[in-house]
Amino acid sequence: MPKKSFLILGAGPTGLGAARRLHELGHADWALLEGSAHAGGLSSSFVDEQGFTWDIGGHVQFSHYDYFDRAMVEFLGEDGWLRHQRESWVWMRDRFIPYPFQNNIRRLPAADLDKCLQGLIQIIREPRPRPENFGQWIDATFGPGLAEVFMRPYNFKVWAYPPEKMNARWVGERVAVTDLGRVLQNLVYARDDLSWGPNNTFQFPKQGGTGAIWKACAARLPAERIHLNTTIVRVDLDRREVHSADGRCFTYDRLISTLPLRELIRLSGQDQFIPLAEQGLLFSSSNIFGLGLRGQPAAELATKCWMYFPEDNCPFYRVTVFSNYSPGNVPDSTRHWSLMAEVSESSDKPVNLKTLPEEIIQGALNTRLIERREDIISTWNYRAGYGYPTPGLERDRALGVLLPFFEQHEVYSRGRFGAWKYEVSNQDHSFMQGVEIIERLVNNRPEITVADPNHANSKRHPWPFERWQ
Ligand SMILES: Cc1cc2nc3c(=O)[nH]c(=O)nc-3n(C[C@H](O)[C@H](O)[C@H](O)COP(=O)(O)OP(=O)(O)OC[C@H]3O[C@@H](n4cnc5c(N)ncnc54)[C@H](O)[C@@H]3O)c2cc1C
Repeated sequence: MPKKSFLILGAGPTGLGAARRLHELGHADWALLEGSAHAGGLSSSFVDEQGFTWDIGGHVQFSHYDYFDRAMVEFLGEDGWLRHQRESWVWMRDRFIPYPFQNNIRRLPAADLDKCLQGLIQIIREPRPRPENFGQWIDATFGPGLAEVFMRPYNFKVWAYPPEKMNARWVGERVAVTDLGRVLQNLVYARDDLSWGPNNTFQFPKQGGTGAIWKACAARLPAERIHLNTTIVRVDLDRREVHSADGRCFTYDRLISTLPLRELIRLSGQDQFIPLAEQGLLFSSSNIFGLGLRGQPAAELATKCWMYFPEDNCPFYRVTVFSNYSPGNVPDSTRHWSLMAEVSESSDKPVNLKTLPEEIIQGALNTRLIERREDIISTWNYRAGYGYPTPGLERDRALGVLLPFFEQHEVYSRGRFGAWKYEVSNQDHSFMQGVEIIERLVNNRPEITVADPNHANSKRHPWPFERWQ
């Protein structure tokens, strides 16, 4: 039987994972189409006119997969990486508090600390019913004090939706919960409970930012199969054709789409699903703002990786000291450093894009990230329309209809916005979603990451996966 042909839409980590696996398996009948002029998608990097390198928000790698790790070494070499201790902090009430915040509330002013402790006692005395949404989950898990002081303001700033609009199932390993005994011990012994330590390291490319990884990945694939500058404008499910903006037509037996699922619905003319997608597939946009700075970071920032900002004295929820990830991220590390801020945006949290740059700079001054505006020698901004796939209340119901519908047509929608599962939408998950869909279609092995996110996140996975034995 002749091998089936594959067409892959999108050259982010998911599409590249699928292409790489096909190439590795010796499959020759495939092509990859990408709208922009480069591979990498949301994991791309850019160099501004002053020579500062920027990611689309600070990208760090926490891999769950041996296969992914081996690929990283293959792409950039053993020596292509810098390793860092993960050091994350919260800035509020004019002070730094180590993350996870809930274990370190001893650092709060007395009135806030009292409120948080009373709330933790209250949830032990009066356990809450099973939460029906993320807002109820926050209240039940952290108590009303911690919810008011940190969890609710912070989460609204990150997600750009009230937590009542989000489900409580995605949380899994992604949010640390509270252990009152440990909180009290930390208080009594005046001890910081740090999330960093020997097992909390991450790696970052020495040169070129995160985008260097995916450029290297693409460069190892046959160039004639990768079509950049090829924006898809129509997908014909019946004729199995994909049409590009410049009038070309590509045919396929099987289509791997890593485009946002909402876009796939539109491009394939499946308008009957638009209401379901609007209800179930919520998303937020990400505004990324880089500040290239003269001098060196203050001592307080010298080893920090990123910081969270729950208060309203700045528009950003997170800032990365991006020059700490690699000296290669700035033109001259003896004279420059850099910060990268992230601001979320949605219909529930609109952003004024005209005034945002000034609000960010003022926010950096308010939170004492920078001392003087004169030190800013470069600014860079980027807006990712699709930034975060929000785990909304109706998401799983919508995915339960949409993904099987497209699969009936041999269209497999995978990746951060292809499968719309925030809990498995980092680089490692996305790349593996691409690898795994090929394993399923070529070698008949079940997918794990997209099918069972909790299992995917529960451990490190050897290659081949244990479940395939
Ligand atoms: C602010 C932010 C911070 C992040 N931080 C981290 C982190 O710390 N660690 C981590 O591991 N991950 C992080 N991520 C996630 C990471 O960026 C994603 O995991 C990854 O890029 C998803 O890969 P993907 O291939 O599924 O999608 P994408 O990267 O979105 O790629 C999709 C591709 O499809 C193309 N495309 C879309 N429409 C069309 C069209 N009509 N025609 C042709 N091509 C099209 C796009 O141009 C794009 O190249 C972060 C993301 C954001 C937004």
